[in-house]
Formats: sequence, C-alpha cells, structure tokens
Amino acid sequence: MRIGTPLSHSAVRVMLLGCGELGKEVIIALQRLGVEVIGVDRYANAPGMQVAHRSHVLDMTDGMALRALVELERPQLIVPEIEAIATDELLRIEADGLATVIPTARATQLTMNREGIRRLAAEELGLPTSAYRFAESLAELQAAVTEIGFPCLVKPVMSSSGKGQSLLRSPADVVAAWEHALAGSRVNHGRVIVEGFVDFDYEITLLTVRALGVDGQITTQFCAPVGHVQQQGDYVESWQPQLMSPVALERAQAIAGKVTAALGGRGLFGVELFVKGEQVWFSEVSPRPHDTGLVTLMSQRYSEFELHARAILGLPVDVALREPAASAVIYGGMAARAIAFDGVAQALAVPRSDLRLFGKPESFERRRMGVALAAGPDTDLARQRARDAAALVQPVRVEAGHD
Ligand code: AMP
Repeated sequence: MRIGTPLSHSAVRVMLLGCGELGKEVIIALQRLGVEVIGVDRYANAPGMQVAHRSHVLDMTDGMALRALVELERPQLIVPEIEAIATDELLRIEADGLATVIPTARATQLTMNREGIRRLAAEELGLPTSAYRFAESLAELQAAVTEIGFPCLVKPVMSSSGKGQSLLRSPADVVAAWEHALAGSRVNHGRVIVEGFVDFDYEITLLTVRALGVDGQITTQFCAPVGHVQQQGDYVESWQPQLMSPVALERAQAIAGKVTAALGGRGLFGVELFVKGEQVWFSEVSPRPHDTGLVTLMSQRYSEFELHARAILGLPVDVALREPAASAVIYGGMAARAIAFDGVAQALAVPRSDLRLFGKPESFERRRMGVALAAGPDTDLARQRARDAAALVQPVRVEAGHD
C-alpha cells in the first residue's frame, strides 16, 4: 500500500470503529505515518475522535448506518477497536470489496462472541482451554454447572471487561449468577458460557503480530509476554516482560501462532493465556491491541499501537523489548462530566514515569480515565513506580461554570 497525502486524492484512509484509549493511540500512530484517519464511536468527543482528521457519531451495531458511512467515506481499511459492531455487515463490506477489514471480518465476528472463539480454539484447533459448557436458561445453567463442577465462572457469551461475570463456589450461587449474566449481557439473548476455574500461577497477554516480511509473505512475531492483574474482570496493572519457563513460553507462542493463523489477516492480536508451571491454557484473543498492552508505550521500541499501524499498512515490524516497564490504571472514582486531575505534577515526578490521560468526556466510578506508565531496572520496581504515579493522580469534580 503506497502512502499518499492525507486530505487529498492520494490519501490512504483508515476508519477506526471505536475511539477509546486504544483507538486513540492507533490513530496517533497512523497519523505519524501520514495516514488519513476517520474516527467513529457512539458518543461525541471520544478520545480517538480528538486526534482523528474527522469523526462521526454512530451506533456501530446498526448495519445499515455503518454501510452508509463506509460508502460515504470510502476508507481502504476498516479497523475495529471494539467488539459491539454489526459484524454481519462487515462481512458484506469485505465480500463486496468495499474495504479491507482488519484483520478480517470473520475474525471480528468470531471473537465478539465467546462461543465462536472458544469452539474454534478448543474444537477445531485442539488448543488447551478450561472445561466449558454453554447454557441458555436457568435450567440449562444448573445442568452445565453440575457437569463442570465448582469453582466455575459464568460469563455472558456477548460481553467483555468482566461484565455479567460471576465466580460460583457452590450450587447456592447459580441463580444469582444467571441474573447477573442477563443484566450484563451486551446483547440480551441470555446465552452464557460456564468455564471451569483454572487455578493458574499467573496470566499473560502474548501480543502477536501478523505482518508482511521482506519477501511479501505474512510472518508471525511475538512480543515479550505481558503479565497482568485483573480485578472484577478488568485489568488494573500490567508489566513486561513476565518471566516464564522456556517450555511454557514455547507453548504459549505455539498456541498464539495457531489461533492467530486461524483468524488470519494482518495486524496485532492480544492472546490471553493462563500459565501454571509448564502448563498453558488459551483463554481469549482480541484481534486488535489489548488494554494490558498499554505498557508497551514504555517497554518496547514500538508500542503495540505502532506495531498494529505498521502491520495493517503492510509495513515491517520490530517487536523488540526496550526495557522492563509497567502500567497502572487510573479510574474515575466518581460519576461526573468534565472532571479534572490533580497531582499530575507529583505523579510525573516519580522516576521514569509517564502518564496518558485519555480525555473521556464523562467519568464513572470504575471507568478507566488514564494510565500511569513507568520503567525500571526490573518489573518489580517498574510496577511500584507505576502504582505510585497512578495513586498520585486524583480525579476531581469541577463545578459547572468553572470549566
Ligand atoms: P475474561 O473476561 O474472560 O477475559 O476474564 C477476565 C479475567 O477473569 C481473566 O483475565 C482471569 O483473571 C479471570 N478468569 C476468566 N476465566 C477464568 C477461568 N476459566 N479460570 C480462572 N480465571 C479466569
């Protein structure tokens, strides 16, 4: 793909479907390479919209509206950043040759539903996963839970970031888990997956890039493993590299290589894996940059966002680690519009630290509003610094009329 001049007839145009903090960084990376970027999200002033050439507010689950926008803007590439998209329409857009969907329309469809990706990984590719069953009613859930045993997790098949997810320890938890899943399901058709609990030592995201090599063939490259801590199904801290035994690393790369090859296309993927000793289980995959990979803004020569931008444009990538680093999430801590941040200067005085404040127009208690990054001689010190910097940033309410 020959890169032209943005806002002219020679431009390479990329449409980002989703303009959150991850999309914002992808857009910045694309802008630096001279690409024209169109941001799309369901609300105005989303983080990525603030750095795109132009943007549109659109319900991306509305296939007709999505098609109309693609016909209007005529991007060569469509880059989904979120899961809640009319993927049927993406399949048609791709089949009609209107635009290339990154990495492929099929990959976006399979991964938006826990059932699609689980069946592909476990049943078609034979990858190790937790034991699982699907259920569509309380009675089916009770039967499925009995088969899997306790402890187990119940998750809506259409949900992410821990929404609607419960850990069940005994039969007494089943009814509450069913109700919680129904409330947290993105599309309320009440289908859930029951997963056996994996008692892992640690979990990682293996950022895996499918990019063109010098010979014009797709090559698969692996970043150093990213370790992370999750709370309520949402990431709170990540670091790179996570030390692994050579056997576990080899198994992790083999799994990531297989699942990304099956999804196909070009781009960066976040492959989530559980590790216990030398055993490795596949958990999930995002066909796009991963939130735990925000750490790569500090730790790698090229961040996961720059790698994604390069890979989708058909350019070579370099996955080298620069130095150990960590990230720690900054939550809003309150429901308010147009909040402000105190303590930024103090946070940035932490050695080797940096911040990303995403610029989200509205804060919620558990909304990710920013992230602290820090480097260090090892990940322990980097984690401590990132946590310290994050804790120093204080979201504050600003009275109307003062902003
Ligand atoms: P998910 O929404 O599937 O990414 O799950 C969020 C987090 O919950 C994971 O990162 C794990 O920390 C935990 N988790 C999910 N599934 C399992 C499982 N089968 N066994 C143990 N922990 C799990």
